Amino acid sequence: MKYTRILLKISGEQLAGKFDGGIDAELGAWLADEVKLVENAGIQTVIMVGGGNFARGTQLAGHGIKRVTADHIGMLGTMMNALALNDIFESKGLESRCLSNIFAEQVAEPFVHRLAEKHLEHGRVIIVAGGIGRPYLTTDTAAVSLALELSCGVVLKATKVDGVFDLDPQIHKDAIRYDQLSANDAVSNPSIRVMDKAAMGLALEHRLPIIVFDLLKPGNILSAATGQKTGTIIVP
Ligand code: UDP
Repeated sequence: MKYTRILLKISGEQLAGKFDGGIDAELGAWLADEVKLVENAGIQTVIMVGGGNFARGTQLAGHGIKRVTADHIGMLGTMMNALALNDIFESKGLESRCLSNIFAEQVAEPFVHRLAEKHLEHGRVIIVAGGIGRPYLTTDTAAVSLALELSCGVVLKATKVDGVFDLDPQIHKDAIRYDQLSANDAVSNPSIRVMDKAAMGLALEHRLPIIVFDLLKPGNILSAATGQKTGTIIVP
């Protein structure tokens, strides 16, 4: 086994699945089974969910909506995803807890470091809502920060394609996939867009590896978590 604890970053767009927005509950149920494979292998799972299927601060700001408010709305979007995913996981018999980084005591437990550790030690998946709880950030940066806080061995960045390519593989059929990339290259090369630069910089500084992989390939989360060759690994 390669990692004992992983951080899985799932974007809002992925949670929308077959829909243009909102949440695809069927996909959520499929995801529960995929995460169960990881848990059954004795690997603890922390999930950071995005909110782009509801709102992104950068797109919403303007016409009177302040950037800070737009980011608050974006964070609320992540909350909706986290709550839905938590229910879906529990309905599939996968023990999980939604912990929130924004104050929302009526709907979720607050994210408290020791509480998060306790849930993980009890074999529960934790799903974190609200990113890191501050504006001008994305859930990618929040994912790296959370992975460091909870000593996750790796960030698994789920995407629609199987890793990082030299060209957009959905447009260019001859695009070449990198098996491995240095974090320095991922930060400095403008044509490589894996995560935002703040997230990449934080991972680089703290020598945290990131695996970019195809979420929808069955067994892929487990493969990445157990160190099998999956997608692209970005190494410090
Ligand atoms: N957001 C924020 N602080 C955070 C995390 C997220 O302000 O720590 C806001 C930001 O507006 C962002 C939105 O929440 O655009 C949704 O997150 P993100 O864009 O990362 O979602 P994804 O693209 O992964 O679905």
